[in-house]
Amino acid sequence: MGFLGFIKGFSSVYRAKPRIRAYPSFCQHGHCYIQCRTFSHFKDHDDSVLPVLIVGAGPVGLVLSILLTKLGIKCSVLEKSKSFSHHPQAHFINNRSMEVFHKLDGLAEEIQRSQPPVDLWRKFVYCTSLTGPVLGSVDHMQPQDFEKVVSPVCVAHFSQYKLIRLLLKKLEDLNFLICKPEGLNDEPFRGGELLMGHECVKINATGQSVNVTASHLKEGKYTERNISCNILVGTDGAASTIRKLAGIELRGEKDLQKLLLGVLVAHDLKQGEFVLQIPFYPPQQSLDDFSPETCKQLILKLVGQELSDIDVIDIKPWVMHAEVAEKFVSCDNRIILAGDAAHRFPPAGGFGMNTGIQDAHNLAWKIAAFVKGIAPSSILHTYETERRPIAIFNTALSVQNFRAAMAVPATLGLDPTIANSVHQTITDGIGSILPSGLQRAVLDRIFTIGRAQLSEFLLNEKNLLGSSRLAKLRRLFEEGKSLQLQFPAEDLGFRYLEGALIPDSDSVRAQVPPTGRRRDYIPSSDPGSRLPHMNVRMLSNSFSEACISTLDLLPGDKVEFLLFIAPLEKSYHLAVAALKVAEEFKVSVKVCILWPTDTVKGAETRSKTALAPWENYIDVAEAKKSSNSFSWWSMCQMTDKGAILVRPDEHIAWRAKSSIDDDPILEMKRVFSAILKVNI
Ligand SMILES: Cc1cc2nc3c(=O)[nH]c(=O)nc-3n(C[C@H](O)[C@H](O)[C@H](O)COP(=O)(O)OP(=O)(O)OC[C@H]3O[C@@H](n4cnc5c(N)ncnc54)[C@H](O)[C@@H]3O)c2cc1C
Repeated sequence: MGFLGFIKGFSSVYRAKPRIRAYPSFCQHGHCYIQCRTFSHFKDHDDSVLPVLIVGAGPVGLVLSILLTKLGIKCSVLEKSKSFSHHPQAHFINNRSMEVFHKLDGLAEEIQRSQPPVDLWRKFVYCTSLTGPVLGSVDHMQPQDFEKVVSPVCVAHFSQYKLIRLLLKKLEDLNFLICKPEGLNDEPFRGGELLMGHECVKINATGQSVNVTASHLKEGKYTERNISCNILVGTDGAASTIRKLAGIELRGEKDLQKLLLGVLVAHDLKQGEFVLQIPFYPPQQSLDDFSPETCKQLILKLVGQELSDIDVIDIKPWVMHAEVAEKFVSCDNRIILAGDAAHRFPPAGGFGMNTGIQDAHNLAWKIAAFVKGIAPSSILHTYETERRPIAIFNTALSVQNFRAAMAVPATLGLDPTIANSVHQTITDGIGSILPSGLQRAVLDRIFTIGRAQLSEFLLNEKNLLGSSRLAKLRRLFEEGKSLQLQFPAEDLGFRYLEGALIPDSDSVRAQVPPTGRRRDYIPSSDPGSRLPHMNVRMLSNSFSEACISTLDLLPGDKVEFLLFIAPLEKSYHLAVAALKVAEEFKVSVKVCILWPTDTVKGAETRSKTALAPWENYIDVAEAKKSSNSFSWWSMCQMTDKGAILVRPDEHIAWRAKSSIDDDPILEMKRVFSAILKVNI
């Protein structure tokens, strides 16, 4: 029997005792005045109502709770499981998620230190068995991926369960209590609790709040507990209860292509921890067909040699969907979905958890702006306006990438569409009249014939058909048409077209559709884009040689906007206007004066005089890598007469490409009212 293994970072058959998780894959797999702002939906001083309740302590719920707590927003989390899963699941953390983690007290750096060496995971190796001939390998890292030119951090490979542990540690550092149901009394939650073993079973949205019923096992009996909150966020995964209770439908494709062959992901090669994904064809097969012993035998076939100490730790089915919720926000902006609850992708290209983490990052500052009374609840609706198109885009990209993965077996004579049709015919067509045992035997036989295409007898250079297939396979790899791991253009270059931002005439062009191939990220200052990264030197800092990223100029523990200007008279006037208007809007703005490297003498005195009496500003100088690297303004495709306003989530809210000739106060009022959705 020939299985085709996709092995990430494979270097030798085995080191430590391998711990394997097997996943049989189902592939059916604000109106108000600025001076008197009371945003009516928020019950501010009622201690019995929690500002935010998060349902689901997966990576997305945990990241959201950390971000909110850092922003000073009280929240609690409900988690139905009594303990955290040890399933590795996600392993690829993309560049933008690592930037979010970089701002969580150095979480990105902790991940980078703890992850396996890059050489153990940078490649996908294609072979007929782990000890059989290598058909080809694809390296997903390019030199620029290590250079930190476009980002202060790099992508990472780190198991989801290990990430969960680090996120829990961060929460505990923020004084969050992780509570077991047994230890709880009936006092209302005050925020800062993660309640294990609490399953949300009912929600009831009233005019002012959402009442949530959580069920938990206490002294052997299921007991219900009611919690009222102003905002309920469902981060409860792909089968989200919150989504169903809120009556939100999913749109997209359910019954996607089935896996044909095995995919082995080396989560930690040194530790001997792998995840094996294998085809699963219900209803002809059931989970009972995949006992640990059966999985062990499958693994031995994949390895191609006897191994004495394999430990199959867990076996779990997963379903492949390509679906996005029709709404991310409902019930007057009080029930919100994020992560897998809002979108379910094929796990190709590592978009699932990453998109969810970025949902949380988009949402946190908006919830904080609402809870702190800076913006009305309509700011929360911009979360849907911004994130839903990204989810739709990433769904398309994941599907394309999954199809690229299927190009490999297709090139080798194993056509996935035929396999799908065969399965469908047996399940719903003429084959359905056969007894189930016979259906299964027919399916087994057909797949065995299919997999025979991978036999060494057929797939070798001496065989005409084999050599032609191998040549096609090599071309496929060289042209980047197989499964990809890295998408820098989409990872860092994704852009919001409308929402809590002001598009300008240059930036209304549509998003370039996904190609499914790796494309480089091109820095952009178009509103909605992530702020480009550049290393800068802080001029007011006595350690002036220390460089930080432009992304680090936004604090992460405050709803603060950042206005980039050059040290020019008109720009200083605009900055003073922004500081004045921000005070009226009760929002914080910091001005960043960007000095070209060679003209920093007297910078501080000049900015101090120009901006007095305002003090929330910072002078920085460009720390260019070489004399021919781009200046800040040219990298942003602007001149130094312009200005860029950045949101707390490091996305650009507004820019002026040239100096403002009209009244800067009026302009800044227009800008802040449009971004924060506050009528003036
Ligand atoms: C094999 C595999 C490989 C993957 N690889 C990658 C990858 O490399 N990169 C990537 O970005 N993504 C990857 N993914 C996807 C990633 O695992 C998910 O996108 C991610 O887990 C979603 O996180 P979440 O927090 O939204 O949901 P989940 O992780 O599903 O967490 C939801 C939580 O909510 C809890 N819950 C559910 N219902 C309730 C309720 N009613 N009350 C209280 N609690 C509830 C659950 O117990 C769970 O803890 C992979 C997925 C699979 C299956």
